[in-house]
Amino acid sequence: MSQKSLPRLAATIGVVATLAGCALGGPSGPALGDRGVRVLEKAFSSGSREAIVSYRYQSPADLTRLVDAGMDVWGVDSDRRIAYGQVSPAQLTELRRRPDAVQVETGPQIYNSFDKGYHTYDTMLEDLTKLSASRPDICRLVDLGPTWETTKGKASRRIWGLHISKGDASAKPGVVYLGNHHAREIVTPEISLNVAHMIVDQEGKDPAMTAAVQDLDIWVVPMVNPDGHALAALGNDWRKNTNAGNLFFDVGPNGAGVDLNRNYAHHWGEGGASTRPQDPTFRGAGPGSEPETQAVMKLASSRPFTFLMTYHSFSNLILWPWGYTDEAPPSKEMIAVGQQLGKLSGYKPQQSKDLYRTSGDLTDWAFGARGILSYTTEIGSWGDGFDPPYREVTRFWRENEPGARLLLQLADRPAAINGPEVRVEAGRISAPGARRIEVFRGRKGTPGKGQALAEGSLVATGRGPRQLVYVQAQGTDGQWGPSTATWSD
Ligand SMILES: [Zn+2]
Repeated sequence: MSQKSLPRLAATIGVVATLAGCALGGPSGPALGDRGVRVLEKAFSSGSREAIVSYRYQSPADLTRLVDAGMDVWGVDSDRRIAYGQVSPAQLTELRRRPDAVQVETGPQIYNSFDKGYHTYDTMLEDLTKLSASRPDICRLVDLGPTWETTKGKASRRIWGLHISKGDASAKPGVVYLGNHHAREIVTPEISLNVAHMIVDQEGKDPAMTAAVQDLDIWVVPMVNPDGHALAALGNDWRKNTNAGNLFFDVGPNGAGVDLNRNYAHHWGEGGASTRPQDPTFRGAGPGSEPETQAVMKLASSRPFTFLMTYHSFSNLILWPWGYTDEAPPSKEMIAVGQQLGKLSGYKPQQSKDLYRTSGDLTDWAFGARGILSYTTEIGSWGDGFDPPYREVTRFWRENEPGARLLLQLADRPAAINGPEVRVEAGRISAPGARRIEVFRGRKGTPGKGQALAEGSLVATGRGPRQLVYVQAQGTDGQWGPSTATWSD
């Protein structure tokens, strides 16, 4: 599988996004015909085999059929029910046979420009190494295992996790953030690194981050798919890992490789994942067959994680299990927290299967096998694509930082999502409409056992050394809300 044989595409997705904006209709462009399918762009270069299409789907089941037929779905505008993605000539022929007409438009070509600023595997590792060296008292870099290429002696890449905690964390509630299951989703290692920096750099300054490090067991795995990412960093449009199996040729929109987010070992292979190695959603040879998914499952099985957040791009969505079945997940808290993550990010929150059917994805496994409340965030819109200018990471972080913080705040007691939130401004407590407000000094305590304080009271004592103060409130329905951490001085 030489680099030369990989599709090298040739213009920025930003240009295509402009084209898409024109072609797709909406307020500013001609409406997409009600017959549904439109090819925005075809044939990146002479001899290339894929076309980019937008498809107006009728239902999640309709979109699932398209995915099953091998479409590489890049992203979805779920309000307008338009899916964007890439198809092979054979798939295009198949689409043309559907009752919906396919229009073909030529346009600029696409590749992954990998704007300056994005981390490569090496610079990501350097950043994590520096970060852990800067605060050895609260974090350490952990080797979670080899990549597929490494197991074959072709590379020396590992999957790295930053473990952030204080003291013995093994029994504390945990939160794990992961990025880059899909190689070309280059925004996602950046958001994960920002999560790590937010916590480590602010420990001792920001009371919420100080409390998180004291009370929780936190893991950040910015790059689950370093082999694939290495191809993306060279400008290739690459989704899967690089497991070539017995293939000696590169086929399909993404060549060989296993879709790591269809490979997890919970209801693996139950639809919404391809059995064909050349397809973008190829599920792999067996449940959890890939070293990368094994590394993640091993980590997530080793500790009592409350929450898992896996960052993908793009579609501006917050998704939770299940993906493999229409049944709703048996956790009201998971849904309530997911709705709140939607509010905080501005993304649309929904159960995964309402987008389209998937099986073997990380969140289904983490919730199904480990009971971890799990979310996929699809960062960015079609206009952002996989390859936005690096400066856009600032905006994505602004959208995703509040949700990343929420998981830390709720990790000891997810049901607190149903209670009132306390604000502490200039040392003064505000929790309008609360039945009871209480504080714990130094350590978090059981709701109902703290020192009662009135609305509008000052939290600060002005005495003794600075310590953390946790404030929480009970609603009129009896539900206790999350703890808000603040300083005693
Ligand atoms: Zn993805």
